[in-house]
Amino acid sequence: MPEAGSPLALFDAPPAKPKPHLLTANNRDLNRGGARKIYTWTLPAWVVTLPDGRRVNTCPEAGVCARLCYATAPTSSYRRLPNVLASHQQNLAMVLDTPRDWERWMTEELRQPRFRDAVVRVHDAGDFFSDPYTEAWLRIMRSAPRTRFYAYTKAVDRFARIVAPAKPDNFEYTLSLGGREDHLIDLQTQRHADVFPTTERLEAAGYLDQAASDLLAVSPDVVRVGMAANPNPITRKRQGPHTFGELQADRDARLAAKRRRHSPSEATPEPNHTP
Ligand code: SF4
Repeated sequence: MPEAGSPLALFDAPPAKPKPHLLTANNRDLNRGGARKIYTWTLPAWVVTLPDGRRVNTCPEAGVCARLCYATAPTSSYRRLPNVLASHQQNLAMVLDTPRDWERWMTEELRQPRFRDAVVRVHDAGDFFSDPYTEAWLRIMRSAPRTRFYAYTKAVDRFARIVAPAKPDNFEYTLSLGGREDHLIDLQTQRHADVFPTTERLEAAGYLDQAASDLLAVSPDVVRVGMAANPNPITRKRQGPHTFGELQADRDARLAAKRRRHSPSEATPEPNHTP
């Protein structure tokens, strides 16, 4: 063990936290309710190229949402503002390159008094993209019992395997439609969110509008949560008069039909040989 002050000690020194705050409360849209400050942790959305050339998909379960997402639109501040993009990329690089240090930094930051009785939304953009990353978040949440965490996710299978069996008491989540795992969601019993073209459509479908506060998305007694489409004209046009869930169901049906065409055995079931 090198002595403190010896040149060798430098090799054992843990890396310094690359930015003073991992959690921010800058999202005015999220804090529109005003009743409680909502802190956020954010990754770049969907497929991103890091400065060193690595291409990473932070939303592997994304489906139609990838083309409709406010964070992937070319005009979005998430893409357009270099400092915002760089900050989100730095977050991702921390998680990928120094996962243990990132977890320790996040755990230590959450011990600060401002997070006592505070609310943290995990991901403004991006998702729980791997099992180890999700497990790290569960440990972080358990280490901060006085803080409330919530998230939207399209990682339906990962949450069923890893989160649902051992969900921390201070964590609530909503499964969100528009992903490749929509078909795994029980729309009658599992809390889920859909994005509607208009508020009128949302209300007619019997969904709870979370416009007043993003925290309504994790109301304990609510199964159907809705939000009106982001006003970005590009994504609005792409979405048309449909919900994310409808567009994904349509895409799933078309892909299934294509698979059947290319796999005749699926299209023509074997005769039943049961005697
Ligand atoms: S999963 Fe969320 S953040 Fe990722 S592309 Fe879809 S809507 Fe955007």
